[in-house]
Amino acid sequence: MAPKKILVLGGGPGGVVAASNLAKRLSREEAEITIIDKHGFHVFMPSQLWIMTGQREPDDIRRPLKLLEKRGIRVLVDEVKSIKPEEHSIITSNDKLDYDYLVVALGSTPDVSKAPGYEFNVCTPWTIDGALKCRELLRGFKKGSIVVATMSWPYKCPPAPFEAAFMVKYLLEQRGHGRDVDVNVIHFWSVPMEPFGPMMSAAFKRFMDQYGIGFIGKTEVEAFKEKHIETMSGEKIKYDIAIAVPPHTPPEPILNSDLSNPQAYGYMKIDKMTLRLPGYDNVYGIGDVIAPSLGIGMAGVFAHFQAEYVASNIIDDIKGTYMGEHYNMSGVCVMDMGYVGAAVYCDFTKRILEDAYPDCVMLGGMRAFRAVKYAFERYWLDKWF
Ligand SMILES: Cc1cc2nc3c(=O)[nH]c(=O)nc-3n(C[C@H](O)[C@H](O)[C@H](O)COP(=O)(O)OP(=O)(O)OC[C@H]3O[C@@H](n4cnc5c(N)ncnc54)[C@H](O)[C@@H]3O)c2cc1C
Repeated sequence: MAPKKILVLGGGPGGVVAASNLAKRLSREEAEITIIDKHGFHVFMPSQLWIMTGQREPDDIRRPLKLLEKRGIRVLVDEVKSIKPEEHSIITSNDKLDYDYLVVALGSTPDVSKAPGYEFNVCTPWTIDGALKCRELLRGFKKGSIVVATMSWPYKCPPAPFEAAFMVKYLLEQRGHGRDVDVNVIHFWSVPMEPFGPMMSAAFKRFMDQYGIGFIGKTEVEAFKEKHIETMSGEKIKYDIAIAVPPHTPPEPILNSDLSNPQAYGYMKIDKMTLRLPGYDNVYGIGDVIAPSLGIGMAGVFAHFQAEYVASNIIDDIKGTYMGEHYNMSGVCVMDMGYVGAAVYCDFTKRILEDAYPDCVMLGGMRAFRAVKYAFERYWLDKWF
């Protein structure tokens, strides 16, 4: 029998874990596995915050996807233009490819072109270039106001704007300017981490009070002007440096197709239990591209667990004997807060199935959690590449 053709779209954590697990369990006679990514690089995004603070350079945290070829995975650097589930094929900039199984892991894109005024003293660690711009703006900064301004939901890693605020405050304290710099998080939520429930909000508030970081809630950013933010309600908030979380967009091949879920900001529609595209047994979605349809935040940890689950389903289908576990609906996000580290652990089972608050606990803050974060970055890049 000819090997089954498996296409994995996207080389973020979701795509890399799915393709690698498939390649580990299936022989080349059983399956031909291809991963397609328009950039050809895998990026460990949590460390973009360390690019901002100068602790990492871009090449420290990204790896060429071509390295996956050593596992027998075919790597194509190409842009997916459209997905045609009814024809079992996709169209890229250069080709038309057929598949027996399709895994969509195209993520979400932080889009600075949707942040009006980005050309002023505004930067974002949500991209590598943006993190380098933050580093430049922070160079020699001694006095004034820094805001971390989230622009719209959904965005990658809900706690990360708070983490960015802690890290910047810590950086300036280490440089001896802590007392002369105000750091505030501007958010559309009314309290920090609002969708994660009152316990999580209280825990974040406690840390923010302890380290002198302000919170300006219920505030939607309309545009960055040269020295102030204009909000949707017409307020002006002064800043010297703004660290933005820009609006995120769904991947083009999803947004302009029947795969798009209008109730989930245009991200991919999905069956919540099987992670399959409704109506198609051989098309799966994982990671950021399905997070809004599941009603959870965008996080690499979810992409990872979902990738393992989907790979086990495909292996089971091909081999007929492989038992995978249902995907893990919980996740942990470790934060470097400068002074200490902390971990947010949430079980989203209730959130996904009943639309209720997730069960969350905040672990930390201890300096040891910072070490956990450093160790995880090393583990991740060494394990998959
Ligand atoms: C500052 C920051 C801190 C973070 N911290 C954490 C953390 O502590 N813990 C955590 O769990 N998560 C964290 N995250 C979130 C995490 O990085 C994302 O949720 C994760 O990367 C999502 O993985 P994914 O595989 O679904 O998508 P992505 O990582 O977005 O990958 C999608 C891939 O698809 C490719 N692609 C897109 N469109 C196309 C196309 N048309 N054709 C071909 N290729 C395409 C892209 O090039 C990309 O490589 C953080 C993110 C940021 C920005």
